[in-house]
Amino acid sequence: MAAIKSDIVVVGAGIAGAGVAAELAGDNSVTILEMESRPGYHSTGRSAAMFAMNYGNDPIKKLNRASWQMFHELEPEFFPHAVLTDRGVLHVANLAERTELEAFVAASDDIELLSVAEAKEMVPILDTDKCVAAGWEQGAKDLDVAAVHQGMLKKAKVRGADLVCGAPVENAERTDEGWLVSTSKGQFEAKIVINAAGAWADEIAQIFGVAPIGFQAKRRSIATLPSPDPSNSHRWPMLLSASEDWYMKPDAGSLLVSPADEDVVPPHDVFVDDMVLAEGLHRFSEATTYEIEHVEGSWAGLRVFAPDKTPVCGYAPTVEGFFWLAGQGGYGIQTAPALSLLAAKLVMKSDLPDFADAQLIADLSPQRFK
Ligand SMILES: Cc1cc2nc3c(=O)[nH]c(=O)nc-3n(C[C@H](O)[C@H](O)[C@H](O)COP(=O)(O)OP(=O)(O)OC[C@H]3O[C@@H](n4cnc5c(N)ncnc54)[C@H](O)[C@@H]3O)c2cc1C
Repeated sequence: MAAIKSDIVVVGAGIAGAGVAAELAGDNSVTILEMESRPGYHSTGRSAAMFAMNYGNDPIKKLNRASWQMFHELEPEFFPHAVLTDRGVLHVANLAERTELEAFVAASDDIELLSVAEAKEMVPILDTDKCVAAGWEQGAKDLDVAAVHQGMLKKAKVRGADLVCGAPVENAERTDEGWLVSTSKGQFEAKIVINAAGAWADEIAQIFGVAPIGFQAKRRSIATLPSPDPSNSHRWPMLLSASEDWYMKPDAGSLLVSPADEDVVPPHDVFVDDMVLAEGLHRFSEATTYEIEHVEGSWAGLRVFAPDKTPVCGYAPTVEGFFWLAGQGGYGIQTAPALSLLAAKLVMKSDLPDFADAQLIADLSPQRFK
């Protein structure tokens, strides 16, 4: 069977691959290769679905700010309803975490200190014997991840991109014009390959003869607990411990509780470690009056970090036609609009968007690992 030709092959149909494909399609022929039978099966389909402007390091915050604007200007034909809805985050501290919380609030523009009584009014299960300080981040939102991801895939498709699922990239060779990429679903030729393979990004790089970055995939688990007050809890904000060693987010009639685990694991179809989950649920129950009797369900996903915790976005410095778009950590959904646009502009070597100052480009560049 002859190889299918396009200008650009994108490896991975998570939010990163979908987003950059949506930006590039139309002006370029684009093929997205996804190893699973459906897109979004790994990290993208397993997130906590939050947008928090203050979350992440400086480069991430620049992408957050730009994405905030872009989330409000999405094209209605692909994103028919608002993808951000009110939630807020209540940062809570026990005695040992108090100084950390106060320093965090002081360094943030839009988080205000609340009294413990005010915090309990918002989330009645908060244990006021344990909680000594609280910070209110009103601007944090729920993100409709499925709508963002599906909207990006639809935009890519309408602009002519092809999505091939069940097509794990297994081999790659250089050709006169670019790359010949082999999968179990046939061969694909392209001038440029974009590595948006999430936890597998280093493995993909090695297939293309590119030195790995040294990404670490960190497991993060979430349990679903029955809400003690289903008719009101959907309005509660997210609770986040000041040292980020647990969080709780209302979700429909349930509560999602995470131990905020960060154990490094190999890239795989990750599942929950029961002991880690139990320890995290214990920390949650210590900080609240919630008594855990029954866990409705649980899942785990991978948060993928470069050694400096900053995403990698740019051409590999030593191998032609290979572009990195990986390492979005715990921010890959909320930064997706800005990072997708920036990646597409860098791929095409065209004018950069206004938010992309020289420092941001340098911070994201794979050159920093040379
Ligand atoms: C529990 C949890 C909570 C999170 N909460 C948030 C949050 O609240 N807000 C936020 O912004 N972010 C959050 N994140 C982070 C966010 O989910 C990720 O940053 C984002 O999904 C990464 O997207 P991606 O496309 O890079 O990776 P993925 O979604 O993993 O996509 C990579 C794709 O590449 C494919 N692939 C791999 N190897 C191959 C191959 N050889 N051939 C073809 N395809 C291949 C995979 O199958 C996969 O579909 C959270 C993550 C977790 C785990």
